[in-house]
Amino acid sequence: MYRSDPYASSPGGVRSMRTDPTSMDRANQVTRSVVVLPGDGVGPELMQAVMCVIDEAGASVDWQICDAGATVFRDGIASGVPDETLDAVESAGVVLKGPLETPVGYGEKSANVTLRKLFELYANIRPIRALPGIATPYSGRDIDFVVVRENVEDLYAGIEHMQTPDVAQCLKLISRKGSEKIARLAFALARAEDRHKVECATKANILKLTEGLFKSTFESVAADHTQFESGHLMVDTCAHKMVVAPEDFDVLVTTNMNGDILSNLAAGLVGGLGLAPSANLGRDVAIFEAVHGSAPDIAGQGLANPTALLLSAVLMMRHIGQHEVADVVENALYRTLEDGTHLTADIARDADPVGTDVFAGAVLDNFGRSARQLENRTYSPLRMPDVVHGPLGEVSRDLTGVDVFVEWKGNADALGQSLETAIFASGFRLSMISNRGTKVYPGRIGYTETVNHWRCRFAWTERDWSCVDAEILGLLNRIGEIHRWMHVEKLQHFDGTPGFTLAQGET
Ligand code: NAD
Repeated sequence: MYRSDPYASSPGGVRSMRTDPTSMDRANQVTRSVVVLPGDGVGPELMQAVMCVIDEAGASVDWQICDAGATVFRDGIASGVPDETLDAVESAGVVLKGPLETPVGYGEKSANVTLRKLFELYANIRPIRALPGIATPYSGRDIDFVVVRENVEDLYAGIEHMQTPDVAQCLKLISRKGSEKIARLAFALARAEDRHKVECATKANILKLTEGLFKSTFESVAADHTQFESGHLMVDTCAHKMVVAPEDFDVLVTTNMNGDILSNLAAGLVGGLGLAPSANLGRDVAIFEAVHGSAPDIAGQGLANPTALLLSAVLMMRHIGQHEVADVVENALYRTLEDGTHLTADIARDADPVGTDVFAGAVLDNFGRSARQLENRTYSPLRMPDVVHGPLGEVSRDLTGVDVFVEWKGNADALGQSLETAIFASGFRLSMISNRGTKVYPGRIGYTETVNHWRCRFAWTERDWSCVDAEILGLLNRIGEIHRWMHVEKLQHFDGTPGFTLAQGET
């Protein structure tokens, strides 16, 4: 299978960090079970080609093909993933996944999200590397970095409520533990890939508590990894820098929604979503998949480009410790892209486009070769890190008041006066009302446009703090007699620090 190669001695190519690999290594390799979810659309045809290439490279894997996606939804399983598949994933711990569709009218949640949540796949890893032979406006800029996206928290916990018929709300949940896990993983990945810099992108200047917790947790984890350069970027600055100086990034860790947007932007720099691989990692399960979808417009025609799924399989082979297979396949793929003679229609240059199978065949023919123009990169095993700091221990807490969210069609002054009357002699004082985050009562409302969703902030004024909880129920009863309220937030101080933010204009 391996051929002599005029470029084999060139410095290009990818290498895994291990001692002098020989064919004996492969003979001694433990066979790993891998669950395969071929998925929908182009998924099955791509998966077949990719499994063939990985097998031919000498992988020791036992493929277990399971169902998930559109046909499962149509069979009436609302999650899109049958129990037998979940059992197989739990037992194998490693999955190579094709794109999954959620057919209209079946199930509310996608099968992808089900898998991510059920197996606590808290990290989404998106390598961003300029591919040889793929011309982009950034060609020659040596782009090579990794986006590490927190994958289960943030706005994507998907906790949404219509607060009024006209105002929708989504809870942005960031936990200290979740932030520490992803920050530690970013440093572990930097170590495994011999990278030197880990940066964190947040919007902590505006979202001081949520994004602020992610930032401060990252900084405390960075203090445990002083051998790496580390730093923080505002996410908007980060987006700008990614476009003007993408070669400056090495490892970028960020919250779920920031990461969703930035990783797609980053993929666009090096050829687009159609070429982008990804890994979803948890402590017990890892799922590897192309970023693109099921491409229904070309499904079943044998035309799809297997690059993204093949690169995802390469990530998987490194994850299961079969580095030599990963290197052979990755180098052969890069060489195929660089040669440019056997490319699918989406990336074909001067030569006539070929189909999925011919492309995969060209990769097989290039086993043992590497791209002429490629920086060397070495990989060692990625170890999933443990949480060290974890949640805070005992903290003192003072409950100093409550925000009650009220639906109201009138103006701020009328609402304020009605509430002042309702809470007379209650032990609470109406300290302010805000609308869409800006203080509108008491005082001038200015040009603030108001909607029928008002935050009414009540401060506890009595000396006895032990009864505030019970008094809040009494307060809600009083308010409920004259207004429709829908949402309550306690105002707490933890170890003397306010656990809530002020409204714009509130002092
Ligand atoms: P898509 O990525 O499937 O297709 C967008 C365009 O890219 C199409 O023109 C398609 O032909 C092309 N394309 C995609 N992959 C290609 C490949 N390997 N080779 C050549 N061309 C390729 O995006 P979409 O049309 O928005 O989504 C189609 C379906 O896939 C939807 O049901 C969506 O929900 C699902 N989807 C699943 C995943 C996943 O499972 N992770 C991700 C994205 C979309």
